[in-house]
Amino acid sequence: MDELKPCPCCGCRAVMRQAPLEPETSQSGGYYIECTGCHLTTLLMFSILDNCKPLLVGLWNRRPVTVSEGEAEKVLREAKLLRDRINSANDLHAVFTIKDSAEFLGFSKAIDAYLKGKP
Ligand SMILES: [Zn+2]
Repeated sequence: MDELKPCPCCGCRAVMRQAPLEPETSQSGGYYIECTGCHLTTLLMFSILDNCKPLLVGLWNRRPVTVSEGEAEKVLREAKLLRDRINSANDLHAVFTIKDSAEFLGFSKAIDAYLKGKP
């Protein structure tokens, strides 16, 4: 079984816990992972046919996909090319609608702001 990664919210150590065995409750004996700092938890799981602990570890250790600076730069440059194409296509009514939208203007400013800081 993989080691538990630190908490994704606060970075503190995480531990596997088991709910107290109290047959009158629906949580009885269920396993979960809890952060020792902020007490973030996974859902509660029960081992019925398979051991649920590896599943819980997989859930806890899952992290968002991160992209490298180089990949982000490439996507932004492609976005800039797309924006430039939209900006130069003034004769299309549909494109005008996009160009004048607040969403497009915000997107356009974000590209400029990002690229300004780059060589
Ligand atoms: Zn935490």
